[in-house]
Amino acid sequence: VTEADKFAVEYWQLEEKKLKLRPAPKALAGKVAVVTGGASGIGLATAKLLSEHGANVVVADLDQSTCDTVAADLGGPDAAVGVAMDVTDVDAVTAGIDAAVLAFGGVDIVVNNAGITRAGKLADTSVEDWDLQYGIMVRGSFLVAHAAERVLRAQRLGGDIVNICSKNAVFAGPANLAYSSAKAAQAHMVRLLAAELGEIGVRVNGVNPDGVVRGSGIFAGGWGASRAATYGVDEKDLGKFYAQRTVLKVEVLPWHVASAVLTLTNGSLPITTGLIIPVDSGVPQAFLR
Ligand code: NAD
Repeated sequence: VTEADKFAVEYWQLEEKKLKLRPAPKALAGKVAVVTGGASGIGLATAKLLSEHGANVVVADLDQSTCDTVAADLGGPDAAVGVAMDVTDVDAVTAGIDAAVLAFGGVDIVVNNAGITRAGKLADTSVEDWDLQYGIMVRGSFLVAHAAERVLRAQRLGGDIVNICSKNAVFAGPANLAYSSAKAAQAHMVRLLAAELGEIGVRVNGVNPDGVVRGSGIFAGGWGASRAATYGVDEKDLGKFYAQRTVLKVEVLPWHVASAVLTLTNGSLPITTGLIIPVDSGVPQAFLR
């Protein structure tokens, strides 16, 4: 410890000055983030983490009152607002992006997270299930990016679009034809939009999570039962099953995915675009067939 260090410590400890250290500046202070599917699971964890790091958050999901509850938990109107936004509905998406601009003056971060799963091989996949999954994850990601681009382009401040894709975008998991191919489309959109929106300084990246069982409405709503049957495990042990087949043996949780979104948007990776980050505890290829 040098004399200068001692002086610095004494300086801050001087009672009569009543000095207080400032809180550390937050990386996302002044940024506005729109998180689709932000009321549950990965989206909820992402909305929370981006909010903790200073972003104003627009929680966009199907049900207005659920969105409002999440927004209130994040600190109310100065910190977050809830917007009922069905991402398959052009007018609702346009209105949702406009609501973000009205509430917080712009949009900097867009997280295309809304999603749904209907398991099934080719013969078991109905046209309705196909359209539903493509509608939400492919058409929805397109509509949200399309509406947000107007704002991002006009602002001239750069920005981030992050698509929550899936390990299933890359590997042929069993019995989920429509979901996996929709996720692959969503992932390729990352590369295409990255190439296109670089000219306005907008980075477009993605995250491929795997096996986020806890907190996931998708898993609780039938996908978990289907996967448990496919793998021959008890549904309550599914999280552990996914964990044990990974390299790190860690169960993937919503906050792990949120943490990847934060890293992509908080300035840690300022010239990274078109990247899709796996968040899966390390899945050996052999288990994915
Ligand atoms: P979740 O069900 O907890 O959250 C999905 C949210 O999307 C819900 O709140 C739901 O209401 C909302 N949503 C559904 N349809 C919508 C629509 N038309 N418009 C707006 N919002 C809509 O599920 P989750 O596990 O947190 O999944 C979030 C995303 O992560 C999905 O895109 C999913 O495909 C992807 N993903 C999940 C896992 C996993 O293991 N859980 C793995 C890879 C990818």
